[in-house]
Amino acid sequence: MVYDPQNIFARILRGEIPCDRVFENDHALAFRDIAPQTPVHILVVPKGAYVSMVDFSAHASDAEIGGLVRAVGHVAREAGLEDPGYRILANHGADARQEVAHFHVHVFGGRDLGGMVRRAPA
Ligand code: AMP
Repeated sequence: MVYDPQNIFARILRGEIPCDRVFENDHALAFRDIAPQTPVHILVVPKGAYVSMVDFSAHASDAEIGGLVRAVGHVAREAGLEDPGYRILANHGADARQEVAHFHVHVFGGRDLGGMVRRAPA
């Protein structure tokens, strides 16, 4: 998949459209999902142009990878999710129904999240 610099998260990172920012470090930005699926639903995105975990893990620097992972942990902790629990998830491609082709990690929490993976309707 080729990275499209006009994707919505790239535009958020460039400041072209607003976001509900919760955290930022040198390499990652975290903001609230516009259509939250749980009481806490935060997206953590690398500032670099990567489409997926495969792309990010292969091409990002150690500092970028560290920045993203630390941001995810920080966000989960600061949202008060460490004790009740939380889920992190990253979609890629058609089978995962990825909507935005800029690598991002979802952080879900704030209620019982149920079972892990649901089968798509037939
Ligand atoms: P995914 O299916 O993993 O690509 O998820 C993309 C997520 O981005 C969805 O949960 C959307 O609700 C969310 N989203 C789309 N546009 C925005 C936006 N402008 N600000 C915040 N979240 C967004």
